[in-house]
Amino acid sequence: MKLTTRIVNLQLRHTFTIARDSKDVSPVVITEIEHDGIVGTGEACPNRYYNETPEAVAETLEGLSPWLAKKSPLAYEHFLDEAAERLGQHRGALSSLDLATFDWVGRKLGQPLYRLLGLDPRRSPKSSYTIGIDSIDQMVEKIHEVPDFRIIKIKLGTPRDIEIVRALRDETDAVFRVDANCAWSVEETLEKSKELAALGVEFIEQPLPADQLESMEEVYAKSTLPVIADENSVVPADVPRLSGKFHGINIKLVKCGGIRPALRMVHLARTLGMNIMLGCMVDSSVSATAATHIGALMDYLDLDGPLLITNDPYRGVEYVDAQPRPPDRPGLGVESRGAAPLSESA
Ligand code: MG
Repeated sequence: MKLTTRIVNLQLRHTFTIARDSKDVSPVVITEIEHDGIVGTGEACPNRYYNETPEAVAETLEGLSPWLAKKSPLAYEHFLDEAAERLGQHRGALSSLDLATFDWVGRKLGQPLYRLLGLDPRRSPKSSYTIGIDSIDQMVEKIHEVPDFRIIKIKLGTPRDIEIVRALRDETDAVFRVDANCAWSVEETLEKSKELAALGVEFIEQPLPADQLESMEEVYAKSTLPVIADENSVVPADVPRLSGKFHGINIKLVKCGGIRPALRMVHLARTLGMNIMLGCMVDSSVSATAATHIGALMDYLDLDGPLLITNDPYRGVEYVDAQPRPPDRPGLGVESRGAAPLSESA
């Protein structure tokens, strides 16, 4: 097969701020594989937190070209195992190739990915919509921009966390989830969990830094709210060691290496009795649509990437009353919006 990559700069609707980072542009790597006249498309949103850059992801993938020239994606279990071995820690690159492979296989077999996996996307949970850190006025305004979304994920990790949630609670009776992105201590988490529970928050995502996993035992035992691992939940091998420290995990395709490792994480978490969330980065409709195909396996979805950008180069996922649905087309079902000037996404 033949592989090509290109870097696309996705423009954010609003500056997106979390506890450790702020951005206006999200560069992603779009990967296409071509084999037997069929093209499969994938995407990776490289994350500085995981030491990835778009250039490095593209370069790593293109380095596979001589090996790929002799490969077919059809027996994908074997093909992706070998790819994973060659790519090692480059999981963003692996994810981009994994998504392109599943898109290709679905197109080749003439079926949407969810059907190949035996899933019914109408059983998917509704998605949350994420509000980044901003002035309280701006955060209130953002909530009113998405009235269809009745689950709001609020980024926290500021000196005014409780004040923010209280102000937002005055505006809406939507379900709230909060993400501290590693910014809290054990004491802060326990204290805030009480106040946040009283404000109708459902759970807390990643309160402590990832290197303080042992301290999560105390949080797990004493927190008023359930805690979900994100920065601690990267690859399948992480899942068993999170049992007894978190109530659930957040899976992201680009962190773990795509659909195949994501499915392994689902099975491990279910075996251990943990809840599962599927999240995204600020990425285009390619990644978000890929995620919708396995959405029915999840307890919680956070797939709002395409809603946060203004120049999505693809169309695919549709939000039906905040439930993200994959298209009923073969593979991932994504379509390029073409060479026309990239306008506001519909
Ligand atoms: Mg998170």
